[in-house]
Amino acid sequence: MSNRSTVVAILQCRCPRCRQGEVFTHAAWNLRRFDHMYESCPVCGLYYEVEVGFFWGAMYISYGFSVGIVLVAGILLFYLANDPPMWVYLAVVTTIIVLSTPVLFRYARILMLYFFGGIKYNPVDSKR
Ligand SMILES: [Zn+2]
Repeated sequence: MSNRSTVVAILQCRCPRCRQGEVFTHAAWNLRRFDHMYESCPVCGLYYEVEVGFFWGAMYISYGFSVGIVLVAGILLFYLANDPPMWVYLAVVTTIIVLSTPVLFRYARILMLYFFGGIKYNPVDSKR
């Protein structure tokens, strides 16, 4: 349990240093608090906002997610729904993006931490 792979740790939104501590204080489906983060890791104490304004960069990742959704949904609708009217594209894409906002927001921040935070994996001894 203490030896999560990077992929599993990212999927579970765990601290990039110890891969044990949670990053977010509430579940993604808690729409009022999905964006609340621990200031530092509850297990190893890593301070998550590694520099001031660090998470602004996550907006670009989030934007990338949205572009990906638009492309995939557009291609699927074109081929599976036989190129429906434009309002169908807009309705489907808008619905998907609105519904997935909490998840996109969180994974954008998690990816930011893992790939741009300059934090190395450093397991803590969980037996103590
Ligand atoms: Zn940690």
